[in-house]
Amino acid sequence: MNIHEYQAKELLAKFGVAVPAGHAAMSVDEAVAAAGKLPGPLYVVKAQIHAGGRGKGKFKELPADAKGGVRLTKSLDDVRAAATEMLGNTLVTVQTGEHGKQVNRLYVTDGADIAKEYYLSMLVDRATGRIAMVVSTEGGMDIEAVAHDTPEKIETITIDPAEGFMPHHGRAVAFALKLSGDLAKQAQKLAQQLYTAFLATDMSMLEVNPLVETVDGKLLVLDAKVSFDSNALFRHKDILELRDETEEDPAEVEASKHDLAYIKLDGDIGCMVNGAGLAMATMDIIKLNGAFPANFLDVGGGASKEKVTEAFKIILSDPAVKGILVNIFGGIMRCDIIAEGIIAAAKEVNLSVPLVVRLEGTNVEQGKAILGNSGLPIVAADDLGDAARKIVAEVKQAA
Ligand code: GDP
Ligand code: MG
Repeated sequence: MNIHEYQAKELLAKFGVAVPAGHAAMSVDEAVAAAGKLPGPLYVVKAQIHAGGRGKGKFKELPADAKGGVRLTKSLDDVRAAATEMLGNTLVTVQTGEHGKQVNRLYVTDGADIAKEYYLSMLVDRATGRIAMVVSTEGGMDIEAVAHDTPEKIETITIDPAEGFMPHHGRAVAFALKLSGDLAKQAQKLAQQLYTAFLATDMSMLEVNPLVETVDGKLLVLDAKVSFDSNALFRHKDILELRDETEEDPAEVEASKHDLAYIKLDGDIGCMVNGAGLAMATMDIIKLNGAFPANFLDVGGGASKEKVTEAFKIILSDPAVKGILVNIFGGIMRCDIIAEGIIAAAKEVNLSVPLVVRLEGTNVEQGKAILGNSGLPIVAADDLGDAARKIVAEVKQAA
């Protein structure tokens, strides 16, 4: 789960992290009022969307030479003008895709006088089983170019969670950022605070870009992007409240309500599978047969008739879907029960696209017989390869 920059900064501030003062705003008037509470004379008006690259982004509705989603302003009138231009409009950045994201919230912050921009991020490094802290002296808006052109300017410090954050980790961060004296001390403290916040809230990713040194010698977290491990959210009710469903794909939101793991993709063959591994294999084999999956969908081990119905509805809510492949292994679940669920769901949702079903496992013969006798135009498949070939052929034929 992702959160907005302002939420991330408010959260980090609770762990002692130094961030610029700021207030979120949902309307132009709120933005002006927010700026009024700040000392000035520089106010930064920032579009709040779940995507980076806002500074260099472009608004669809504004002329090409208009400014992006991060505006430096010097009066309350300019704050009003910036907020008016941004709210309700669609910001396209390198991370939003060409459709962009509508800006519904702003963050008005106290402008910092920047001496230098650094980069710091943290993530769970599965290869080492540790938490990686990635730092660079070359922070700002072009970290991707730095990673590509001068990777030696990016350093990774790994922290073993069993050992925890040690003073030497903090010193390594300060050294990598080429800081000395009081700034080095601030960097050590900051790294420790970020590590504590990362662990305590079960983050999966934290990116501070830029981390800035101000002209008066303070390290400040100027931008923050945070993702949480969704599997750990059950123990963070307060963080769950920060969820902004308008930023998420509506079908994915609906799926999560029914405890279905669904991710929308770009192809046209809907997939309904039990088990994440089988779902991945199903997507692979669709591609092997020259077509593309419209989604990843894991209905889970104990898929009930109701869950199967919801899964069908979600798959069919995607207008790109031209056919559905159901691939279920009846282990704990019995194939006859799954077959009944599929038929009930197909009838309820008025299935309008070809449906290929591959069942395997407990009571598979009864399951196949139930599907065969249903009177519905369901194409039965014998194995995974057969199923993929059949659904690709059906979709091509219908096109
Ligand atoms: P992003 O483009 O989505 O990553 O948004 P950021 O919050 O990182 O802002 C983009 C850039 O705007 C930063 O790299 C800074 O150069 C600039 N910026 C943001 N806030 C301030 C500020 O308070 N003062 C100054 N001088 N520049 C800022
Ligand atoms: Mg940034």
